[in-house]
Amino acid sequence: MRITDVLREKGGTVVTVAPDGSVSDLLDLLAEHGVGALVVADAAGGVAGIVSERDVVRSMQRHGADLLAAPVREIMTTSVYTASPDTDLEALLRTMTDRRFRHVPVVEDGSLVGIVSIGDVVKYRIDHLEAERDQLTAYISG
Ligand code: AMP
Repeated sequence: MRITDVLREKGGTVVTVAPDGSVSDLLDLLAEHGVGALVVADAAGGVAGIVSERDVVRSMQRHGADLLAAPVREIMTTSVYTASPDTDLEALLRTMTDRRFRHVPVVEDGSLVGIVSIGDVVKYRIDHLEAERDQLTAYISG
């Protein structure tokens, strides 16, 4: 099982925000799209960073409501871990668990082609392992 299998089912849409967008805009986008993190894209469409709900919560605790007017670049993580469509899902889950992040942008030939959350990966694996188990059970009892 590879990332490309997950993207085939969930699609390659990636919601992005500009580094100069405000934290308030970021919250609107997170709510509107029902996601927990956005890729921060630079003017050329490259990955400048990633920003998640967790960054907002931590910074809000430090700076209070003034944070809403601050630019996203002040709270984003700039050293972004990305994966390729060929990445094995088990290895990806291990990395996400060890490094304690729940989102990974997927990049192919320098272009952003999707994003996967730990929830997407777990759901895909459970669905497919259950289907495999059902087939084996049917085969054995068949
Ligand atoms: P998350 O668990 O994805 O909400 O993110 C937890 C923390 O890790 C936040 O500070 C994020 O900015 C950061 N983060 C999330 N995804 C990544 C990633 N793929 N690479 C590096 N940092 C990340």
